[in-house]
Amino acid sequence: MAKVTIAGCGIVGATIAYELSKSDLDVTVVDQQPAPVEPDLSVCPSATGAALGVLMGAISKKEKGNNLRMRLAGIQYYERTVPELEALTGLAIPFNRQGIVMLQFESDLSVWERLVGIREQQGWTLEIWQRDRLQQQFPFLNLDQVSAAVYSPHDRQVNPVALTRALIKAAKLNGATFKFNTSVRGATDQSVQTSNGDIASDYFIVSAGLGSTALTAALATPVDIRPVLGQAIEIRLKEPLCANCTLPVISGNDVHLVPLSETEYWIGATVEFPTEAGLSLPPDGAMFEAVMDQAIAFCPAIAQAETIRTWYGVRPRPQGRPAPIIETLPGHPHILLATGHYRNGVLLAPATAAKVRETILGS
Ligand SMILES: Cc1cc2nc3c(=O)[nH]c(=O)nc-3n(C[C@H](O)[C@H](O)[C@H](O)COP(=O)(O)OP(=O)(O)OC[C@H]3O[C@@H](n4cnc5c(N)ncnc54)[C@H](O)[C@@H]3O)c2cc1C
Repeated sequence: MAKVTIAGCGIVGATIAYELSKSDLDVTVVDQQPAPVEPDLSVCPSATGAALGVLMGAISKKEKGNNLRMRLAGIQYYERTVPELEALTGLAIPFNRQGIVMLQFESDLSVWERLVGIREQQGWTLEIWQRDRLQQQFPFLNLDQVSAAVYSPHDRQVNPVALTRALIKAAKLNGATFKFNTSVRGATDQSVQTSNGDIASDYFIVSAGLGSTALTAALATPVDIRPVLGQAIEIRLKEPLCANCTLPVISGNDVHLVPLSETEYWIGATVEFPTEAGLSLPPDGAMFEAVMDQAIAFCPAIAQAETIRTWYGVRPRPQGRPAPIIETLPGHPHILLATGHYRNGVLLAPATAAKVRETILGS
């Protein structure tokens, strides 16, 4: 049985582990964190712990190409795999099936009108909603600056922490081994060196997010992945925005309002690039305020909300090349990079796992 070692147990490593664990492979996942991805932290050590889990597939502006194919594959995968994981593990995975409503602030909607036709040919639905429909459906929205909205009924939102935990439990049930509190230090074509000894491996997969840079430097072929910080908040409203209904994710100017319950919501996230000196920490209060101002502008009730939690995490962004990086390491056909997923790692993890599986198993 071929042995596969995976460095990193965020959403990417966990999805790869689950998919590979369905086959006749001996899968070991190693993560330097003391435990699987944690909810409720204010500083998230992994990107996955900070993510909002918004899955922007059909609503992506990309008309065609590999990135779009990966996005749409992600939507299809979660549609069938979330119930599969819940049945297998007994864990609940909050999964919003109401779609995504993206508010528009420009009067020229020609790009979207064109995309509606393209998506239709591709077998997906996008709708343009005029203001009267929006006002009728979501009377709590302030539409003063809003010209219309694009509605994507097939896009989704998933809780990334619950999802990752379920993937880990399901992979364990299939026989995969997880070693937390263990960091990977390097690898050869036959073994992976960790802080707890060597692991004999036929394949080594680097899905260590930001940690991939140091790991690939240790393998003498560095990939440059830089951090892009994101701040977000969980709030509780005094009154439900709508009673007895589940809302879609509502986005405006890249700010997402993610419903968790009738009164609880996530809002985020900032996109903060590092300077020459690196990341600015603690995070920029002004950028966070700008996100809140935008959210309040389209949903005024947020101004009265109680803060439950604020947090930040960093997205792994490949420097000078598109995200993500899924390829074999030059000169090492059994070492695979599956990293640098930047802003869409939850959405792109399933297609990443499929590509890794195909590289190893040929199917
Ligand atoms: C605020 C915010 C909001 C986001 N919202 C969304 C969203 O709505 N939708 C979406 O699709 N994506 C979103 N993202 C992006 C998404 O979170 C990332 O693209 C994704 O989580 C990357 O997953 P990963 O598994 O590659 O990395 P990570 O989740 O960072 O996991 C990497 C793991 O590798 C481990 N590791 C590192 N080095 C080593 C080593 N040497 N040895 C052992 N272990 C190691 C780390 O401990 C970590 O657990 C968001 C990100 C942020 C920060």
